[in-house]
Amino acid sequence: ASSTWRNVAQGPPVRITEAFKADSFDKKINLGVGAYRDDQGKPYVLPSVRKAEDKVIASRMNKEYAGITGVPEFTKAAAVLAYGKDSSALDRLAITQSISGTGALRIGGAFLARWFPGAKTIYVPQPSWANHAAVFKDSGLTVNKYNYYSKDTLGLNLEMMLGDINAAYPGSIFLFHACAHNPTGVDPTEEQWKKIEAAVKAKGHYAFFDMAYQGFASGDVDKDAFAVRYFVSQGHDICLAQSFAKNMGLYGERVGAFSVVCANQSEKARVDSQIKILVRPMYSNPPIHGARIAAEILNTPELYEQWLGEVKEMADRIITMRALLKENLEKLGSQHDWSHITNQIGMFAYTGLTPEQMDQLAKEHSVYATKDGRISVAGITSENVGRLAEAIFKVKG
Ligand code: PMP
Repeated sequence: ASSTWRNVAQGPPVRITEAFKADSFDKKINLGVGAYRDDQGKPYVLPSVRKAEDKVIASRMNKEYAGITGVPEFTKAAAVLAYGKDSSALDRLAITQSISGTGALRIGGAFLARWFPGAKTIYVPQPSWANHAAVFKDSGLTVNKYNYYSKDTLGLNLEMMLGDINAAYPGSIFLFHACAHNPTGVDPTEEQWKKIEAAVKAKGHYAFFDMAYQGFASGDVDKDAFAVRYFVSQGHDICLAQSFAKNMGLYGERVGAFSVVCANQSEKARVDSQIKILVRPMYSNPPIHGARIAAEILNTPELYEQWLGEVKEMADRIITMRALLKENLEKLGSQHDWSHITNQIGMFAYTGLTPEQMDQLAKEHSVYATKDGRISVAGITSENVGRLAEAIFKVKG
């Protein structure tokens, strides 16, 4: 009998997690996961999140639907966190709650595909978070790449990046990682952002910011929002995808927001109505529980202060692990310059190791990460950093 799905092709397996699970070595290290781990290597629920959740549960709210654009106490506070409490953008901002950062990018992609007046082409950095290209392609945009990272310096290739911004068809869309670039951990400095902004403006391009790590990069939520706020201050009506997966550790709760800076109230009302028209046939309205937790934190002064401290603790642990990894490699006698490990920022380090060396790390040392040489610094602990450095030293020298 012929089957209905006989033409469905097998997709590629998700290899790292499977190989890690199959490895029976008790000191195996998983540096493939994109989630924070504490210094014992365990998933971490922020104490401020526990407190906020207890308050939400104790208040015994009903479970009615949120509106199409979500829980207003959450979206208002999310906008203030991103744009700053004195931002001129706040009262002309169309914002909707989203299914975390990915959902925000998807709503953004769909909105631009339907309404962006220029070329429906979005440029994403090379390399970028692997899902960017897929999300934007499925949203109906054409996806192109711009140069970002230099394999020679293991840092930003500003000259080529600016060259690509200049060469792109005027009025194109550019996707920027607001901070903690994934996968490279390489961010422009504030001076470099100013040059990038000038180039974007000169060509009439449109800036789409993905801010999945606010506070998680430097430990300071305002510093991490520099690029977003700078572009707005220079007159760009940007759009923005926000995620609370990393900075609040709300991964599975799927808390995020998508916002568009508009020119005025009338534009805001029209954009808002079109966002609702996009969201309604996708999922009607977003889940409420995680948004209530985030709103409780953002709107309660003591909880907010506590949360800022906890974000900084996570960021600092990651910064410390970077330093320890570099130190351990140097102690072993490695002659390579490992300063990129400590210059980079955020959850991921781009080691510069080749796919072959990454294979060797897995097969011979039970250290698992993606082939592109990206390791999740969140998976490093005081306990395993020594063995990790030895493994890297053995495969790379
Ligand atoms: N953008 C970037 C750059 C990311 O690294 C991630 C998470 N890995 C996301 C967006 C979205 O994640 P989420 O949907 O879990 O918020």
